[in-house]
Amino acid sequence: DRTLAVFTSGGDAQGMNAAVRAVVRVAIYLGCKVYFIKEGYQGMVDGGENIVEATWSSVSSIIHQGGTIIGSARCMDFKERQGRLKAAANLVEKEINNLVVIGGDGSLTGADLFRQEWSSLLEELVSNKTISQEQLDKHKNLKIVGLVGSIDNDFCGTDMTIGTDSALHRIIEAIDAIVSTAYSHQRTFIMEVMGRHCGYLALVAALTSEADYVFIPEIPPPDDWQTKLCKKLEQERTAGQRLNIIIVSEGAIDRNGKAITAEQVKKVIEDNLHQDTRITVLGHVQRGGCPSAFDRVLGSRMGAEAVLALMEAEDTAEPCVISLDGNQAVRLPLMECVKLTKEVAKAMAEKNWQRAVELRGKS
Ligand code: ATP
Repeated sequence: DRTLAVFTSGGDAQGMNAAVRAVVRVAIYLGCKVYFIKEGYQGMVDGGENIVEATWSSVSSIIHQGGTIIGSARCMDFKERQGRLKAAANLVEKEINNLVVIGGDGSLTGADLFRQEWSSLLEELVSNKTISQEQLDKHKNLKIVGLVGSIDNDFCGTDMTIGTDSALHRIIEAIDAIVSTAYSHQRTFIMEVMGRHCGYLALVAALTSEADYVFIPEIPPPDDWQTKLCKKLEQERTAGQRLNIIIVSEGAIDRNGKAITAEQVKKVIEDNLHQDTRITVLGHVQRGGCPSAFDRVLGSRMGAEAVLALMEAEDTAEPCVISLDGNQAVRLPLMECVKLTKEVAKAMAEKNWQRAVELRGKS
């Protein structure tokens, strides 16, 4: 039971490599055998060369690299039982009893389902003679620990997800660059930033760049936002400001749950104020580049704690997620955190903004 595998899944995030590195090195230090599973769940389903043993040196010189060196993917096969059956057979073949999954809430939900089905998957593999009864007996339990890698900071239970701080650095650099050119030409810039269900990036970017207005999913603006926005921009210009910055989260919505887009905001400003208005969509630049010092440390701490959690857990322990609580790495029940995260999305879908904000506050 000292064999473990680590994989990254869903959207990539800066700092994932630091986590992979820490998992591998702490595991080796503790005498474990460690595997990489390449390309997320797809590699687990396909097996073969996607599951390779990791060595101390295979994670050298990666802490400063963005993305994930072991690849990530979205995998439809794993959403089907047949796919998970193949994945289980591949893990048993390599005698892997412990998994560290680094990904967003979708990846962690998949891991929890896999864990719940584990016994029945193995029984099916015995009945179709893919594995022996002896292999089943040896692999009765699968222990799972999750780490949250997501630039959006959209997971309940942890103060910061791996990648968020680096994405913020990227956004702030871009806004600072835009501000100089906007100043010269007295322009208004609308910056669209990532965050499908979570306005954290937009909100913190707005606070730290002195933006004039921000649109986030959790707190939709008042119904007359067009009037309020124009009034605010006009006030600033009258007071001598030469530029305006507006941040729009990609998941921004109005009080009817309809998307508020950068294009729409631009049209409101041009039609009413006739200001020279431009849009910058930051897109994947936010995910790219080197991780910040914070994300390198966060990934390293979370990775090390994940291995310790696996080694200390009972064989039948429920999956946990490693979270940051203040300055402490803590272990929380994985499914409770996933459930809370899904409740925020549900509250937003039901237009219960107060509950959405309360739940975010709780996390
Ligand atoms: P991001 O925050 O970047 O979206 P994520 O982990 O939430 O990351 P998803 O695309 O939702 O990204 O999930 C990644 C993969 O996890 C999926 O492609 C699929 O293989 C697996 N997965 C997600 N949800 C489930 C589920 N309910 N059951 C089984 N597998 C799942």
